[in-house]
Parts: sequence; structure tokens; C-alpha cells
Amino acid sequence: MGNTETKVGSSRRDRPSGKQSRKGMGALCAMPIVPEPQLPPDIGSGRLSLIRPHLHKWVNGTVLRYYFFDRDSDGEMVQFEDGTTEWRSWVGSGVEMDVVRNAFRQWKALGIGLEFVEVDSRDEAEVRIGFMDGDGAWSYLGRQILDIPADQRTMNFGWDITNDIDTAIHEIGHTIGMSHEHQNPNSGIVWDEEAVYAALAAPPNKWPREKTYYNIIRKIPAETIEGSVWDPNSIMHYPFEAGLILQPEEYRSGLNPTPGFSQRDKDWVRAFYPAIAADEYEELRPMQSQSLAVMNGQQRNFVIRPTATRYYNICTFGASDTVMVLFENENGDLRYRTGDDDSGEDRNAQFRVKLLRNHKYVLRVRLNYADRADETAVMIW
Ligand SMILES: [Zn+2]
Repeated sequence: MGNTETKVGSSRRDRPSGKQSRKGMGALCAMPIVPEPQLPPDIGSGRLSLIRPHLHKWVNGTVLRYYFFDRDSDGEMVQFEDGTTEWRSWVGSGVEMDVVRNAFRQWKALGIGLEFVEVDSRDEAEVRIGFMDGDGAWSYLGRQILDIPADQRTMNFGWDITNDIDTAIHEIGHTIGMSHEHQNPNSGIVWDEEAVYAALAAPPNKWPREKTYYNIIRKIPAETIEGSVWDPNSIMHYPFEAGLILQPEEYRSGLNPTPGFSQRDKDWVRAFYPAIAADEYEELRPMQSQSLAVMNGQQRNFVIRPTATRYYNICTFGASDTVMVLFENENGDLRYRTGDDDSGEDRNAQFRVKLLRNHKYVLRVRLNYADRADETAVMIW
């Protein structure tokens, strides 16, 4: 992605009409191709299976700020095969922005611990949303968006989503760390691969083979999947026309997920990002270690109220893989300060950070893996 000055577009007439089109494959989400982070090769498979599902996901309670591009200069010049060029804006219509806002509300309404807040500055937004026509619908996966420069999109809607909130819900699903469900290695799907490549090479998608491979044919590594069950009704599953799926046989005539969230979508997101009750926050005081004492994959939440303005060290102890993130509480608004993730490494998550007297901070520690959870702790000093 990126605001390269020119790139080869297809034709001006391509206006995909939404994923529900009945004949042929409708326009589909295409995630940007990003290499998976490398983990040390000597990690055992048990440990790997506990780290992998968390690599792209947020600590629970994270406030994700989203922003809609709004300047005349926000857009890209596209070049067509006939050599002509055209300016394509990233700025959306009020109606389409409302669809996206509503999609964020629908995720939150499931009762999850993540927060979504709209902001009017790209510089304080983790999620930056464009509506560039013809550029497809896509989002980066979870924490990948932190690597995208502030003047770049992390999410795009390339066709009119006025009546297509499911596409907005689907892209937000990627932003919170969900992969494509039809790439679940447990699906048992056997593709007619050449038919799939041909279907996606046709309008409105016009995908090159590598995009089709990355978004459909490729199986997500088994160790990144929680649970073993395939959910063909997931909001993260594409519809498929007849003739693309060879197995399971019942889908040879096509697969159409039911609209909206499936029950498994709801169950998964509530389990991974449960609501956080006020009494789950314990105070973390200097030099008093707190045992993490949670199961692998679970999270502890602490408040820190410094009595002196100075630099502090915050560190986890014990053989563990943890994601540790510090937020400052500004009148109830949690602002990201710093974070560390030691997953797959032989060190502990830690940072040194200046904290201000009489300010309030929240520390979230997600324990991905520990040899012995009861010997894992966090301390500030
Ligand atoms: Zn997608």
C-alpha cells in the first residue's frame, strides 16, 4: 500500500457492487501482504502455539482511536493501463463514515474490553480509514497497524458500503486481530485452485495470483488458530460461488455465510477481549511484586499512582512470554505510553519510563506462556 504517486489501476469502469452480488464473485476484502514475524527456530511447539495467536492481537482494554482522512490532499494519483491518470480521494462521504462508526459500535455492543474512539487527528489515531474507490476493502492485521506511518491508511473501503455494513465489520475484525476464517487450516476446504485464481482474476476483483494465494488459498498456520472448529458463517469468511470448493462436498454449489456476526464470532471475541470490571484493577506499588497467577492467555490489570515524579522500571519475572503495555489515564481517557512484548525471547518484558506524581496509569500484562504461572510476577521500582 502507500501513497505512491502512480500505480497501475485497472479500468475506470470498475465499480464493485458489494460482496453480495449473486453472479460470480463479488468484490472481496484483500488484506495487504505482510510477512509473518520471525520467531526463534528452537521454540517448542507448545510454547509456539501459545504465542502465535497473540502476535497480532491487542492487550485487552486497549483504546483504539480511529480517524477518517479529511484533507483535499489525502489521496493517490492512479495510472490506468491506457496511460491516463486520475486523482482518487481517500475522503469518504458522511453516510459511509456513519456505516463504519456503526460497525465499531456493533463490535463494542458485544460487550468486549476493547474501546473504539473517533478522533479528528491522524497523529493520535492507530486506525486511519480511507475510502479510495477501486482500491478494494482491506485492513492490516491487529498490531501490524502500529508499523504504518501516520499519513497512511490502515483500512480502506474501495466500494460503496452504504448498504454493506458487514464489510466494515469484517475490516474491523482484521484490525482487532482476526484472520480470514476460510483460511482456517481446520476447515478441510480443498480448493479447485485454478478455478479460484480465475474467479478472482475476473472483475470486479482483478486480483493477481499472489493476492488470491495470500487471502484464500494459503492456510493460516495451525498454531495461530484458537480452537479447532471451522466457522463457515463467520463474519471473517468470504462467500464463494459454485465450483471453487471441492471439499467439503456440500459447498461445491457455493458457500454463503449468514450476514452479520456468527455465534462463534461473538463467543470468540468475548473470550479473547472480555469486558474488564472495575474491581479487576489492583494497585501496583514500588518494590512490591505482584504474582501474575493467571492462566496462559489471560491478562492482569493494574493501576499505578506514583508518589514521586521520576523514572521507573517495570519488569516481569519468571520464564514467561508476556505482552506488557502502559497507559496514562487522562481524565478517564487511556493514552498509550509504552509497551513491550518478549514473546519467543529469552528475556523478560520490561521498560523504563518517566511517571508523574499524582498522575494515574494503567498497566496491562497479558501472559501468553509461562513454564510455571505461579512463578511469574511483575514489579515496579
Ligand atoms: Zn478480509
